[in-house]
Amino acid sequence: MEGLLSGVFALISFALAGAVAGGLADWLLGLSRGLGWLPWLGAAAGAVAFVWRDRRRGAAVLSWLRGRQDEPAPRFAGFWGELAYRAERALVKRDDVTRREREKREQFLSAVEASPNGVLLLDAQDQIEWCNRVAADHFGLDPVRDVRQPITNLVRAPAFVAYLQAGAFDQPVTYPNPRTQGTLSVLVKPYGPGLNLVLSQDITERERAESMRRDFVANVSHEIRTPLTVLAGYVETLSSIQLPPEEQRRVLHVMEQQAGRMQALVSDLLQLAQLEGSPRPRLDQWVPVAALLGQAVADAQSLSAGRHRITVSPADTADGAGVPTAAVMVEVACSLTELQSALGNLVTNAVRYTPTGGRIELRWTQRDDGSGLFEVQDDGPGIAREHLARLTERFYRVDSGRSRDTGGTGLGLAIVKHVIQRHGGEILVDSEPGKGSVFALTLPPARVRAARMASVQETASVT
Ligand code: ADP
Repeated sequence: MEGLLSGVFALISFALAGAVAGGLADWLLGLSRGLGWLPWLGAAAGAVAFVWRDRRRGAAVLSWLRGRQDEPAPRFAGFWGELAYRAERALVKRDDVTRREREKREQFLSAVEASPNGVLLLDAQDQIEWCNRVAADHFGLDPVRDVRQPITNLVRAPAFVAYLQAGAFDQPVTYPNPRTQGTLSVLVKPYGPGLNLVLSQDITERERAESMRRDFVANVSHEIRTPLTVLAGYVETLSSIQLPPEEQRRVLHVMEQQAGRMQALVSDLLQLAQLEGSPRPRLDQWVPVAALLGQAVADAQSLSAGRHRITVSPADTADGAGVPTAAVMVEVACSLTELQSALGNLVTNAVRYTPTGGRIELRWTQRDDGSGLFEVQDDGPGIAREHLARLTERFYRVDSGRSRDTGGTGLGLAIVKHVIQRHGGEILVDSEPGKGSVFALTLPPARVRAARMASVQETASVT
């Protein structure tokens, strides 16, 4: 109304101005010869000028509105000026809202994109609306090209298709993913009329851990049940029959062996559990290499009881205790008990698996990059190549009979691997059937240093 009034007012102003101009011209020039038509002509011309100017302004505003509004709106006084100004303000406001919403949406999508799980949106026709990269990888999709494609045309795993078509989404579906050779778990969550959110997760690792846990429990039960059965049988025999003294001694010896076997197993299991639950060994507890070698040699000698030739390399000794000079001069940052146990396991294996008369050598080397290397070499039966990668698995044995006969629990090398990995090193095995084996433990340069004098003296007294 206000705009209309001001328009009418402007029109009247233009007409009046035209009439005044016409009247003035008539008075000065007397063109209408007393008829007085010139002021009317002036008023009409004023009205036409007003309409022409108004149309031009209207056309300018319309052309700005029809365009992309990259330029500022035309600036006029009056009706068209205000219209253009208000339209411009409304558009800027709308752009602002749109931009803020786009930013929010992008933030949300980047959060979903960063999810370790796959996220995929399906419309009411099961067509892909959007998916993150993880989902694209799980289902073998292209996040851009495959948008608007029906998912069942692209993902053909029968378990997934059946799950989607059945529409019973209270439980996830789990199926082998032929693309990754792993296992995929997929859960659908309806979130709107016919719209579905598909969540996918690669559970290969979880399944592997679960299966390892099951195997471990089964193995432990089996390992404990065998000696327990023997013990229970003999207890029954002893309590029901009077055995001759010789036979009784034999039975008691077997019982002692089986009890020892269970003790060793429980002790190894406890050690593994302790290793898993404790923090990494510190970097500031320095132990002389000579102390570790000295203890390992002593362990080997006591178990071998003179049946093997046990040496330490290099052979020249500084302290007369059979420990090499080079080793005396070096310290390693480690947990003394853990590294002693690891080296103890290696020398114990060397003694147990190497026949009488065999040779066992312990070596320490500091490598050019500053890292350290403990090696235990024997000339025993050696191990075939196909077993090497699995030796450090829990309860893996090349020859079960021989392992059990010599008191093995099947956990020794698993403990060694755990210990050395906690120290930032690794276990290396080199072996050939008939030629013997070399088990090596590496320690990173940060855990190896030249010994201080005080430590060297200490070493001499330890060994
Ligand atoms: P075990 O208690 O059976 O010795 P380990 O984990 O210590 O268990 O060793 C795993 C397997 O590796 C053993 O059963 C044995 O077959 C093989 N092994 C380990 N050390 C040697 C070695 N020095 N010579 C030959 N075989 C070995």
